[in-house]
Amino acid sequence: MSYMALYRKFRPNGFDDVKGQEHIVTTLKNEIRTGRIGHAYLFCGTRGTGKTSVAKILAKAVNCEQPVNGSPCNECQMCQKISSQTSMNVVEIDAASNNGVANIRDIIDEVQYSPTEGKYRVYIIDEVHMLSSGAFNALLKTLEEPPSYVIFILATTEAHKIPITILSRCQRYDFKRISIDIIAERLRELVDKEQTEAEEKALRYIAKTADGSLRDALSLLDRCIAFYIDQKLTYDNVLDVLAAVDTEVYSRMFEYVAAANAIGCISLIDEMMAAGRDISRFISEFIWYLRNLLIIGASAEGSDMADISSEQFPVMQEQAKRVDADILIRYIHILSELLNRIRYSAQKRVLAEVDFIKLCRPQMDEVQDLSTIISRINMLEQKLEEGIAINSDANSKLEESETAQRNVFSKNDDTPKILPKAVPEDIKAVIGNWQKILNQCDRVEQTMLFNAKKVVSDDGDLILQFTDSVDEGYFRQDDNKQLEALKSVISNMIGKDVSIKTRTISYEENEKFVDLSQVIHFEDVEYK
Ligand SMILES: [Zn+2]
Repeated sequence: MSYMALYRKFRPNGFDDVKGQEHIVTTLKNEIRTGRIGHAYLFCGTRGTGKTSVAKILAKAVNCEQPVNGSPCNECQMCQKISSQTSMNVVEIDAASNNGVANIRDIIDEVQYSPTEGKYRVYIIDEVHMLSSGAFNALLKTLEEPPSYVIFILATTEAHKIPITILSRCQRYDFKRISIDIIAERLRELVDKEQTEAEEKALRYIAKTADGSLRDALSLLDRCIAFYIDQKLTYDNVLDVLAAVDTEVYSRMFEYVAAANAIGCISLIDEMMAAGRDISRFISEFIWYLRNLLIIGASAEGSDMADISSEQFPVMQEQAKRVDADILIRYIHILSELLNRIRYSAQKRVLAEVDFIKLCRPQMDEVQDLSTIISRINMLEQKLEEGIAINSDANSKLEESETAQRNVFSKNDDTPKILPKAVPEDIKAVIGNWQKILNQCDRVEQTMLFNAKKVVSDDGDLILQFTDSVDEGYFRQDDNKQLEALKSVISNMIGKDVSIKTRTISYEENEKFVDLSQVIHFEDVEYK
């Protein structure tokens, strides 16, 4: 019997098999149950989050002869034909390779004829952002007046590249990254079905590595199982197959850095390279380790958010106690920047070694700088407690926007906390959900956001304010790719699109602003 990849073998058949997208699944099931089916859907989200799977289930459900509670029955003739891909009613198009006007015209010609069987003809256009502008125009005409028996499902990883005219005609659904817990749970189900033994820790590691994509998790699991066929899947095996490194190594690396032991760092890098580990991966995971230390240091019960095993937690807790948050942020900063640089470099190892030496080298000017920062923060906090407005330079360019910020502090301590009028409701909702939003961002993005101050502009826009253009550049690179990703997480979370800008200003100027998180808390925000 030939081996079938897990993600093919265990494609979800019904809405209830779809993991981690309950908000979308519930809405779609309700639409089908009540017969209020749309004609154009837009499915957005990162890869491997279930967009095409849900599209196929939806295509089946609308054609199913006896849908069960909004899901396809998978037994009737239509369901079976669609499952075996022999029905003319479901057409899948990959816009990456069929992006021209002619491809869309073919569809439009076909659309004239009503289906000979079933109720709906469903066109699933994957990677729709790849269509040429001519193709989008051609598609637009059909989207404006679609025949009653036609449904378009457009899927994309890059919604911001889709013309607004198309967007406005679609029901938009944003697919979330899937949490480590949900992915690990799904992996457990599958290995049980496959009767493969696997350690919990091994599955969790795969889930974490997949970074929100269930499909990636399944193909990683495939690789591991194929490598150790008919054996129990252990944590060590998984590390080997994925060329990854055990947490204990990161713990050692942290100790070397903290002790300013450059030789230790270099020899550990040497050890990793000799074992065939990938240096970029090593650095990105070490950043994750530092980020976890930062979280543990910041809260008493950080282990949930930090996704750390119970045996590892006390070690990290002790490490977190020994190091200042500012210093951790400095490490994360240097390493994130390193990660960007080595991506395209042939000298990965040398660059890495240089930066680890940089981490170890105690710099007097930096130390002084740090203490200045800390004393400034202390001063600011004291003023906050006293409810005194913060002074600014008279000739400050940012004078006006500061007014909005300062309003926050002009309240007397005894009065009940009133949210400043200057902060629009949408932004309050964003700030109130900030931690949840962070949880859905990828690692590097989280790190970068640690360095951002959230403030409100004069026009009532949310601004991410940086003091280092490298941080801002991260969100601006590749046509604002990361900024758009963040916006999509936010609109998912609060159900609205929020305009976000970024800017880099001097450290001095930045000091005058107070991060909105300090004045708006979750309890203050009315939850929808
Ligand atoms: Zn059916």
